[in-house]
Amino acid sequence: LAFFQNKFVRNGDRRFLISVIKRGIQFADQKQEFNKRPTKIGRRSLSRSISQSSTDSYSSAASYTDSSDDETSPRDKQQKNSKGSSDFCVKNIKQAEFGRREIEIAEQEMPALMALRKRAQGEKPLAGAKIVGCTHITAQTAVLMETLGALGAQCRWAACNIYSTLNEVAAALAESGFPVFAWKGESEDDFWWCIDRCVNVEGWQPNMILDDGGDLTHWIYKKYPNMFKKIKGIVEESVTGVHRLYQLSKAGKLCVPAMNVNDSVTKQKFDNLYCCRESILDGLKRTTDMMFGGKQVVVCGYGEVGKGCCAALKAMGSIVYVTEIDPICALQACMDGFRLVKLNEVIRQVDIVITCTGNKNVVTREHLDRMKNSCIVCNMGHSNTEIDVASLRTPELTWERVRSQVDHVIWPDGKRIVLLAEGRLLNLSCSTVPTFVLSITATTQALALIELYNAPEGRYKQDVYLLPKKMDEYVASLHLPTFDAHLTELTDEQAKYLGLNKNGPFKPNYYRYCSTTSLFILP
Ligand code: NAD
Repeated sequence: LAFFQNKFVRNGDRRFLISVIKRGIQFADQKQEFNKRPTKIGRRSLSRSISQSSTDSYSSAASYTDSSDDETSPRDKQQKNSKGSSDFCVKNIKQAEFGRREIEIAEQEMPALMALRKRAQGEKPLAGAKIVGCTHITAQTAVLMETLGALGAQCRWAACNIYSTLNEVAAALAESGFPVFAWKGESEDDFWWCIDRCVNVEGWQPNMILDDGGDLTHWIYKKYPNMFKKIKGIVEESVTGVHRLYQLSKAGKLCVPAMNVNDSVTKQKFDNLYCCRESILDGLKRTTDMMFGGKQVVVCGYGEVGKGCCAALKAMGSIVYVTEIDPICALQACMDGFRLVKLNEVIRQVDIVITCTGNKNVVTREHLDRMKNSCIVCNMGHSNTEIDVASLRTPELTWERVRSQVDHVIWPDGKRIVLLAEGRLLNLSCSTVPTFVLSITATTQALALIELYNAPEGRYKQDVYLLPKKMDEYVASLHLPTFDAHLTELTDEQAKYLGLNKNGPFKPNYYRYCSTTSLFILP
């Protein structure tokens, strides 16, 4: 506690904690009995409707050891790590060495987590913590898990997405003793089985949850509600999961405190904005080899993700149009030099359509019908609901898979559109995302876990909280040395003048930081 309190939180800072509106929860209906384990073929054909978030995004580009020729389900394999443990289920434990190299590369771009590890030497702010996690299993997550381990926690982990696991990384984690239950290409049944193997263990009960999408939390609520008696808190990363927590809270069913990491400034302003600014071009380039200069692009939604996409495309010489429903974001788009249009007005002429609204049916079949030949259509939002892909699965249209994650959909007159990642998150599906940005989010997650785990009784109630601003500032400060950045310190006189503590927090909670892209658009 001292490790943590001295550095980041004073009691006075509690006023920054936002207690959030309570709403009711409605998880998707379970369409399949978990206990009925299907046959191998059956597993593949299972409905994916159980967990929307588990299929919202997936990654394939970054796996170097994809052993798709090995058809045996990991559930049917007997595997042991070099220490003789079989408390894991991964595709192939023999890929561990390769995964370890991936993790070591990621460590170089995750300075804050490495700094936390160093600072914790001797101090173990997570000693006694038993964390059950459900996130994308990538090299970056591995760095987070190993940091939590170094801070004293025991962890058990499953994947939050059936496609995004990097098999070699999962193998490396299993080899170093982490009970990991995940592989790329799980069926829905496998997905829930893996989560259950993390939770339902003899002699081990979690006391903290780290979730991305809310499926793990949902599973424990549904199957093991008594577990919440020992759980000290939930840390949730995604928009979807946070929404579910607010619903639970509103229904009065949230029985432990929860931290909303998604809305931390350091997550929103960096993961959403900078991550997308860096990865949109990569995703488009890898799938289509296109040139951006002079191309007409329409970006739907001018929130954080949309701003990042627009900035990157404009800097490459594209002609960028924006659609918005919110007059404030719309005005920002105008002031940043983008033409604000309705999708209908430009749909016939644009070369690329990108959705980033978090909404549904933004691009409809009518829009798709009117697009010009070779128009590229893709989505950067969390869910695959933004483009009405289902409407393209009709007999008169022909689908041609031209590359991994690239489909040509061909109309009877020969017109074709280029659909990327079947309307799922382009960057996570078709490229990689910058490790440094993930480092910021992962550090926020680690700090949220430490805060909830060490908080004295009564500090947090059964509600959803934001991370205190001082911790947001601390996460940012841990990343500054990478840039050899030198922060100015307030003088006593200046601090008094501004009415601030010299050590922060430096902004009131309502401060919004800069969200326009004009500062970094090339002339
Ligand atoms: P945001 O709320 O800041 O922005 C979304 C914008 O879309 C809002 O300004 C909203 O007014 C606008 N919008 C809503 N419906 C619209 C419609 N029908 N037409 C036009 N505009 C519309 O959210 P954000 O942080 O930009 O995130 C957007 C989505 O991207 C979310 O689903 C989020 O989970 C996801 N996301 C993706 C990544 C990634 O790496 N690809 C990273 C972070 C977030």
